[in-house]
Amino acid sequence: MYLTISLSSTLLFTLTAVATSATNDEQVQHQSSDSSQTSPYLAVSSPAWLADIKTPFEDARSLALSEEDIMVRPLEKVKNLQLTNFPPPMRAPPVDDPEVQAVIKQLDWSQVPDAPVRTATPDGELNVESYNSEEDPHCWWSSTLCKTPKVNYIPEDISYCPRAGDWGLNYDDGPYRVWSDDENEKEYEEPRLYNFLIEQGKLKATLFYIGSNVMTFPEAAQRAFSDGHTICSHTWSHPYMTTLTNEQIVSELYWTQKAIKEAVGVTPKCWRPPFGDIDDRVRAIAWQMGMRSILWDRDSNDWALAAQSISANTVNGYFKEWVELRAADQDNEHGHIPLQHESSNHTIMLTEKWLPNIQKQFNIVPIHECIGDSSPYWEDGPWEYKSANKIIDEANREQQREEEEDENESSNSDSDSSPNSRIAIGSNNNKTLSKEHQNIPGTPSSGVSLIHSIFIDSTLLFSFTFAFIFLN
Ligand SMILES: [Zn+2]
Repeated sequence: MYLTISLSSTLLFTLTAVATSATNDEQVQHQSSDSSQTSPYLAVSSPAWLADIKTPFEDARSLALSEEDIMVRPLEKVKNLQLTNFPPPMRAPPVDDPEVQAVIKQLDWSQVPDAPVRTATPDGELNVESYNSEEDPHCWWSSTLCKTPKVNYIPEDISYCPRAGDWGLNYDDGPYRVWSDDENEKEYEEPRLYNFLIEQGKLKATLFYIGSNVMTFPEAAQRAFSDGHTICSHTWSHPYMTTLTNEQIVSELYWTQKAIKEAVGVTPKCWRPPFGDIDDRVRAIAWQMGMRSILWDRDSNDWALAAQSISANTVNGYFKEWVELRAADQDNEHGHIPLQHESSNHTIMLTEKWLPNIQKQFNIVPIHECIGDSSPYWEDGPWEYKSANKIIDEANREQQREEEEDENESSNSDSDSSPNSRIAIGSNNNKTLSKEHQNIPGTPSSGVSLIHSIFIDSTLLFSFTFAFIFLN
């Protein structure tokens, strides 16, 4: 197994070297941080946004199963789908397509900051040296971790759950398909993760989908949607978004929205920039196209494990620390949004190992539930999340705490025997800056973002090389 992993990684890195060069190609009213409210720009009157797109069902909700019908099962055939006339997967999509040009015409470019298009080194690393990080004029996360835009009509990036104890379960880069015949890896492609979440109590997650993956694996996207997961955008070809021109940004976002709409019938109001690479120019375009940015506050570095640039011990250590902090009553400031991936056998295995432990300490919810937003899509809501883990309010927590204290007095054995048992909230407000801020992908000082970039790019290129052969 390790031999296989090692060989495939070597191949991926080799492919990357080729890939990196080839793929590089004042009516401001909206102050609210509630993404369910309307903006004065483009995507304000759904279903006008992408209204002409043919969807698999008249109402996407008919694709969603009732809770009783959600069960572990193999992937089903794709339903009512066309998905034609899309750009090639995992390549920078063209900007001269009439559909993209139509979107470009609708945006109010006077409201998009004139931030420079960033550059990358020949190795694919972001150039941040020339940026004025002290003043941070464009709130460039990759340089400063800025999440509060300088542009006043754009809300702050979402990066954590407000309520302590909430765990905004989410995964990037799906839906995950293995385009090789390696049975060891094949068994980890979807619906493996989706079945696991059902086994753990029909947990719901937020899935940041790559448009190219949705186009080539729509049956997995439909399955996830039918299981009640929330689908957000993660761009068409997974680039550093600040290195793209305005038109290229529109194209990356447009094709992804269209693929998701055609596959499952909804238009997400949410997206995550690959590598967290976002500034106010990118934010403004995404916002006008109807999407709010979601980042994270707990980086598992699972992607680095998959790229073999970090040890399993280190990654396991992160999860262990998070669980222990919460259990020790030292994680009470707010809940969390982790960064995890459904993009390899390594990352899926990590979830299988750690999610049961996380469940003992945290309330597992999709991101929109933890931020109290019942409208993740432009199509009419409200959308119910039906989380298996009921949100426990403060009164219940207090009661639970007392019960647990009583139990502990009489016995200190099985205090966390219940999968959903919660550790009580105390008064300790220690702020513990977790390790992710030392190793955030896309952070220039981390030295690991390049590896992340290489791994993601090469994995995807590798995958789509097979995909193309397969589809053609
Ligand atoms: Zn990603």
